[in-house]
Parts: sequence; C-alpha cells; structure tokens
Amino acid sequence: MGRICSAFLLCASLAAAEPALLVRAGRLLDVRTGELRADQGILVRGDRIASVGPWVKVSAEAPQGARRLDLSGRTVLPGLLDAHVHLFLQGNLTGAHYEAQILKESIPYRTLRAAAAARRALEQGFTAVRDLGTEGAGHADTDLKKAIEAGVVPGPRLQVADLAFSATGTYPLQNFAWELSVPTGVQVVDGAEEIRRGVREQVRRGADWIKVYVDRGYWVAEDGRLRSKLNFTLDELKAFVAEARRLGKPTSAHASGWDGLDAALTAGFDTLEHGYGLDEGLMDRAIRQGTWWCPTMYTIVFVNEGRGGAYRRMPEILFRAFRRAVEKGVRIACGSDAGAFPWSEPLWKELDQYAKHGMTRLQALQSATLRAAELMGIEKESGSLEPGKRADLVAVDGNPLEDLSSLGSVVAVVKSGAVVKGGPTN
Ligand SMILES: [Zn+2]
Repeated sequence: MGRICSAFLLCASLAAAEPALLVRAGRLLDVRTGELRADQGILVRGDRIASVGPWVKVSAEAPQGARRLDLSGRTVLPGLLDAHVHLFLQGNLTGAHYEAQILKESIPYRTLRAAAAARRALEQGFTAVRDLGTEGAGHADTDLKKAIEAGVVPGPRLQVADLAFSATGTYPLQNFAWELSVPTGVQVVDGAEEIRRGVREQVRRGADWIKVYVDRGYWVAEDGRLRSKLNFTLDELKAFVAEARRLGKPTSAHASGWDGLDAALTAGFDTLEHGYGLDEGLMDRAIRQGTWWCPTMYTIVFVNEGRGGAYRRMPEILFRAFRRAVEKGVRIACGSDAGAFPWSEPLWKELDQYAKHGMTRLQALQSATLRAAELMGIEKESGSLEPGKRADLVAVDGNPLEDLSSLGSVVAVVKSGAVVKGGPTN
C-alpha cells in the first residue's frame, strides 16, 4: 500500500512539474463534426492535450505559471498530416531534374535540403508526414527522423520508407552508356529470396514502411483505361507483403495504372499511391480490403505537361476516378507527393484539389487529419484535438471551411506541446 501511494505521489508530482501551455482559440474546428466553436481553451501538459473546451472553464483549470498562447483572433485546428511526401526530392518535373539531383548532389547536400523541406512542412502546420523513399539518398531518412526526434533540427514527426524497392531495369537512372555504372533511386531486388533479404535489411535500418514501385510505363488504352507495365511478378509482390507483415511493417504500393493497381490489390498492399487508373471494380476491391488511397493530385496537375505523353491525360482520368471514389467511400488520405513538385509550393494545394474534384472542404481537411492519422496507424495520438492526444495544433487566419487558402496563412504551430511557430507567449 505504502509503495502504491508513494508511486502515485511521485506520478502526481511529475505531472504537476510538466510544463503547462494554455492556448486561447478564437475558433476551434472539430474535424469530426465540422463544428466551429467560439472562444475555446486548450490546456497542454507536457506533450499531451489535458483538456479542451470553453475558455472560461479550461483557463480556470490551468496551473499557476502556465505559458499562454493567445490565438483569440484565429481558427485553430489539429496539426496536419501528409501521408506521401519525399523530403529528399526538390521537384522532378522531368526525368532530367531527377537525374541532376542524383548525379550532381551529394547525399549530405540532399540531406541538408531535406532538413530545410522538413522545416518548411512544419511551418505550414504539418506535424507528421510519411516519407515514401529517399530516391537515391541512401538511408538518410532514418538520420533525419532521428535528428528531428532529438530536436537537432525542426520538422514533422516522420515515418520513413528507406530507399523503397524496384526490380532490375525498371527504375531511374536508366539509358546511360552501358559501360557506366550509374546509381539508382531505389533498392533493386529480384526474386522472392532477394526480396525477403531486402525487406529485412530495410527494417533493420529503421524503415517504418515497405514501399514498392509496382508499375511504370503508362499508356491510355482505347477503352480509356490508364494501363501500365508491372515491375514484379505477382509472386514477388506477394513476397514483399508476406515478409513485411511477418516483421510487423505495413506496405505501400506505387501503382498508377490499372495493371499496377490490380496487382497491388491482389498482393494485399495496405496503401495505394497515385492510383490514377482506379476504376469501379478496383475501387470495390479496395473498399472490401480496407486499402487506403493517396491520390497525389497536385503533383499530377503540376507535372503532367512537363512530363508529356500519357501524363497529359492523367489529370482528367484522376479527377473522374476521385469523384467516383469519394461517392463510393474509398478510404482516402491526404498524400501530396511533395518533393515531386518543389517544396516552395504550398502543401495545402493538395487539399484544394480534393475540394475542387468531389470532396467537401471538411472532407478534404479530414483527409489530412483523421484519415491520414488512421493510414499512418497513429489515430490514437494524432488527427484531432482531444484530451490524451499529442498537443499538435495549427492556427490560421480566416476559416478553412469557407476557403482552404486560409491554410496558406499559418500564424502558429504547436508540435508535441512546443510552440514551434508564432506567439506571443508569456
Ligand atoms: Zn512519391
């Protein structure tokens, strides 16, 4: 009994010693219901939300000496999440841009640029992102993740995918003189045995996700479907999923065309990236299997003309698929593919595309909060402002339910209870 009491007292005194932050929100957006509540308070203890509610009530609960963040003229919403980014890419409108980054920028230089991109994402209110491959920058994503966690550099919490995987002869750099030994943007594996070893290697290095480039070589068939070539056999794709599952890691499939999506769904991947060629049948299978979709819509709007060929048809094909997927209830999470477009572009433009092509503005905001947190398996920690969750929040001018461009005017960001942008505080 005495031991329980003293343990309790120790816990209670530790909780009291945790730094407290009291936030006053002019309006607070409940992303579950779309309700905007006026004059709210959020009490933060340590890195967690202790309570949320009317200012009069919450401010009375705040301990003496709590720091204060006055956002009384602002709209406060949960920290945002993007489930598909490449911090180590700085725009690859064309293959030449990609080649230049791999051939002319050292991995230390690319890592410095990735740290700058991470800072930029955080300052836009993105407090957690899933990075889906360093694209040739080795395994430096695990270092960046470590540096952010240790507070060495600012950035969102990261989930990382190491180098991602493709098969021999399927991924850049390609078509250089055969006597040259050129680097590649991925880890190349062939056959189930190499795949199992590769998955084990990436997990050992700290990959949170196993990302596989399932298809390439897109064309629009006469029936209007976006088709593609497969990088792996079905048996190989199943080997990725089986080994990742055995090691407790989720799987992500780059699959843009119908063929890639069909194979990724058959193999049982957890998330579909791009998914431009989704048709009714594939959507039904995705719904039945609970598979997530990251539409990466702003990227295709940004790069289609520069890349040419089938890419020019992709926006209209994607917009049609997206509208239908929203109606049918496919699980969609915000995934922008930032890095394929330069980090100077604002991330909220992904959500703006969703709202232009079939989602309500609230659904678009949910895709970057509740839904992306679910995809990343952190819905108990992130995605809404509720007691017990991490204190991640963003404050903007204006009302994003009326105009998503208000997400472009971020005035304050709190990550894990720390004010990383804006103020003033006492
Ligand atoms: Zn990508």
